[in-house]
Amino acid sequence: MTVSEREARQVAEAARERHWRKPSFARELFLGRFRLDLVHPHPRPADEDVRRGEEFLARLREFCETSVDGRLIEREGRIPDEVIKGLKSIGAFGMKIDPEYGGLGLSQLHYNKALALAASAAPAIGALLSAHQSIGVPQPLRLFGTEEQRRAFLPRCAGGDISAFLLTEPDVGSDPARLATTAVPDGDDYVLDGVKLWTTNGVVADLLVVMARVPESEEHPGGITAFVVEADSEGITVENRNAFMGLRGIENGVTRFHRVRVPAAHRIGPEGAGLKIALTTLNTGRLSLPAMCAGAGKWCLKIAREWSAAREQWGKPIARHEAVGTKISFIAATTFALEAVLDLSSQMADDDRNDIRIEAALAKLYGSEMAWRMADELVQVRGGRGFETADSLAARGERGVPAEQMLRDLRINRIFEGSTEIMHLLIAREAVDAHLSVAGDLIDPDTTLTDKGKAAVRAGGFYARWLPKLVVGPGRLPGAYREFHPAGHPDLADHLRHVERSCRRLARATFLGMARWQGKLEAKQGFLGRIVDIGAELFAMSAACVRAEMLRSEGDNGRAAYQLADAFCRQARIRVEELFDRLWTNTDDVDRKVVRGVLGGVYTWLEEGVVDPSTPGPWIADTTPGASTRPDVHRTIG
Ligand SMILES: Cc1cc2nc3c(=O)[nH]c(=O)nc-3n(C[C@H](O)[C@H](O)[C@H](O)COP(=O)(O)OP(=O)(O)OC[C@H]3O[C@@H](n4cnc5c(N)ncnc54)[C@H](O)[C@@H]3O)c2cc1C
Repeated sequence: MTVSEREARQVAEAARERHWRKPSFARELFLGRFRLDLVHPHPRPADEDVRRGEEFLARLREFCETSVDGRLIEREGRIPDEVIKGLKSIGAFGMKIDPEYGGLGLSQLHYNKALALAASAAPAIGALLSAHQSIGVPQPLRLFGTEEQRRAFLPRCAGGDISAFLLTEPDVGSDPARLATTAVPDGDDYVLDGVKLWTTNGVVADLLVVMARVPESEEHPGGITAFVVEADSEGITVENRNAFMGLRGIENGVTRFHRVRVPAAHRIGPEGAGLKIALTTLNTGRLSLPAMCAGAGKWCLKIAREWSAAREQWGKPIARHEAVGTKISFIAATTFALEAVLDLSSQMADDDRNDIRIEAALAKLYGSEMAWRMADELVQVRGGRGFETADSLAARGERGVPAEQMLRDLRINRIFEGSTEIMHLLIAREAVDAHLSVAGDLIDPDTTLTDKGKAAVRAGGFYARWLPKLVVGPGRLPGAYREFHPAGHPDLADHLRHVERSCRRLARATFLGMARWQGKLEAKQGFLGRIVDIGAELFAMSAACVRAEMLRSEGDNGRAAYQLADAFCRQARIRVEELFDRLWTNTDDVDRKVVRGVLGGVYTWLEEGVVDPSTPGPWIADTTPGASTRPDVHRTIG
């Protein structure tokens, strides 16, 4: 299938939720308006939610401590069936499902805490539960299913029927416009044909959410459509159980559909709504990954603390050598900020007062990048032991610390559920949305001259009102946000003033980028990525300050929280300055030239002197529809 860049963009654009019905802190931030009032005072969970959530967390913790052997899962590359059955018995498969349908009805906040806890025992368990509930059958049905569908499937999911989400295909990764799996209407059914790749839980799933393309016809609007499919339907073959550098225990497969009949009643939403459903599901579903990343940070901090105090080299504990201490401070401050971002976004999702789609996307982007850096620093702090497996450490009589496994397991978070590059584009699209809504026609190459003229008048009016507002703001007043500087505490008010000034500066920079590159801005991925990364840092700084103040006002480690928030903001401010500098001083142009040279074969001489150990084969496997010729590796866990 060939799909042009323009068509790919149109498909993504059609799936995008255009309207903003509720306020959004992050959207305002990108527009240069620091709406602290939307996140401060920090929203608090309802007592009943806390009671229910804490009760389950205690049960889950006990289960993880007594019944989960993370080493065994890593060694055998499989979560034992008994563990999965145990998770079912404590209700872990229905954490996020409404009690009306047999689930526990946990809040987003506690669901995320549970994922972080489960993933700390074994990251593969976190992936299993998250794929099942954050993107699998329960979430899209909750949001878009009919009552009949909910009654049919949600009690099964809550009871432990495992679900999976199937969008990716060998030739469809970040670009769903290429989706090739078809769903052809036939009487009261659709008939599915195609191959899906990398389905987490696919090998053991009972229920699937499948994205397939319905061909357009007189009675059918067609388009990418979502279906709930029984995994044991005739014509489904799981052709491979895939293996990865990390998350070795996940049951991830290749699934072939050959003339699979699915009742029309199992279609979720209307034809053509599949991608919108997938994206909306991810609005909160995306919080699962940063939850596990924040959990990873907590563990990195614990190990860094214990190890660096015990290990002595060159006359003192390694923590006291500045080069190591800097890493420990980074891990502590960043863990505080990741939890702040996560809890704030989760609680806002529970309150449903704000639109949190950008916050959740920022949390995913920032959490996955920062957790990777923290785990990398932990491996460094552990020295040679950081590179050694936990089993090997244990075999020679030391504590079996799986630091290298943590690094491997975290790596995928920067790729799946929206790679960092795609998250940059997705968030940048929202960040410049206000501009595009007024100046969109102005920069669209396909617009007529008359429409461009109208757009120019509209844009002129908008910018005349908007630009002056970006020049002054409370960030320039020395006394602003003073409640964030209580006596005897570090000065977080200064950091919030910096955030306020920076978000106006960010909006000005975005405007300058638009003015400079106009329609070509979209291709300036380096520039846009940095704009988004600045936004992520500013959001994390805001969340850290607001959390510290909440903890202080509740008498809960307030002073220590202020110290961590202060350290985080100081570290983040340096990153923000660097990012601002790199908006205009960078190697983007020269890099583009080098890429042309690389692709044109100008530097192939540089590749001489090594061998390529890859085995032969096409880059992308053939997925011609048809009956499977391979054994089915699907199995069910009773
Ligand atoms: C362990 C694992 C579990 C997974 N689980 C599931 C699952 O349960 N269900 C499911 O449907 N999928 C799943 N996936 C698929 C996953 O979501 C994809 O790997 C991801 O969407 C990226 O697609 P891709 O790997 O094909 O990369 P590609 O899309 O081929 O991208 C390759 C590189 O190019 C970059 N890139 C692509 N397009 C652009 C662009 N326009 N601008 C800038 N950069 C770009 C990407 O960021 C990446 O760096 C899983 C994958 C793995 C490895």
